Amino acid sequence: MAIDTHVHVNSLVLKNQEEHIQEINTNNQIESVINVGLNLSTSKESILLSTKNHKFYSAIGIHPLYTEQEDFQSLYDLAQNQKVVAIGEIGLDTTKNNLEEQKKYFIRQIIIANNLQLPVIIHANNTNKEIIEIFEKYVKPKYGCVFHCFQPDIESLKYLIKNGYYISFAGRITYKNAKKSLEVVQTVPDELFLVETDSPYIAPEPFKNMRNRPNNIKYIIEKLCEIKKRSYEEIEEQTSKNARRLFKKLK
Ligand SMILES: [Zn+2]
Repeated sequence: MAIDTHVHVNSLVLKNQEEHIQEINTNNQIESVINVGLNLSTSKESILLSTKNHKFYSAIGIHPLYTEQEDFQSLYDLAQNQKVVAIGEIGLDTTKNNLEEQKKYFIRQIIIANNLQLPVIIHANNTNKEIIEIFEKYVKPKYGCVFHCFQPDIESLKYLIKNGYYISFAGRITYKNAKKSLEVVQTVPDELFLVETDSPYIAPEPFKNMRNRPNNIKYIIEKLCEIKKRSYEEIEEQTSKNARRLFKKLK
C-alpha cells in the first residue's frame, strides 16, 4: 500500500475537507498520509486530525510564506505529540522578498527537528542552492530530510543524494513538459525516493489544473513505474519502505 508523504487536507483553499478525509480513510490502497501544516494553526488542526483518524500523521512547521508568528516554543511542544513524524514544511521561497526573515525561521526549525530527533520536509521554490548553503554554513538536518515536489536541478540533486536526503515526487513528473523531472527520477537511487500528491495542489495528468485529491497517488506511482520500468507493486513497496525509514514515527 502507498504512503502519501505530503497532503494538505486542512488546506486553506479546501472547502470539502470531510470528503478528502473520507477518501483517504476508505481507499484501501493508501496505507497512511502525512498531513502537512503551513503555520501554527494549521499544524494544530493537523494534529487534531491525526489523533482522530488512524491513517493520518502530521508534519508541523511554519512555511516560508507564512512567517508571521515567531512562536517556536509552541512548535517545539506540539512536535512531541506521538503522531507528529516530521518538522515541515519549512524552507525558502522567492515568491516573497523577505529571504533573510525566512532564513531565520528555517534555521530555528531545523534546530528544533534536530533536538527532537525528527526529519524535516523541505519546501524549496527556486532556492535549492540557498538551502544547501544554509546546510553547509549553519545547520544540517541530522535525522533525515526530504525535498518535496523537487524542482529539477541536477547539481543540487547530486549534493542531496550524497548526503542521503530523500526526493519526493508529485504530479509534476506526469506533465508533458517534464523532461528535466524525468532525468531527476532516473538519477535518484531506489532507496531515496518517495511519493506524494500534495493534494489539493498540483494535480497529476489527466487532471492537471483541477483540484488534486488523495486517490490520485496512483498516477504518480504509475509514472514512476513507466520511467523506472518496474511493476506497480515494486514501486509502491519501495516508496513505502523508504517513507518508514525516513519517518520513524510512522506505524
Ligand atoms: Zn505542501
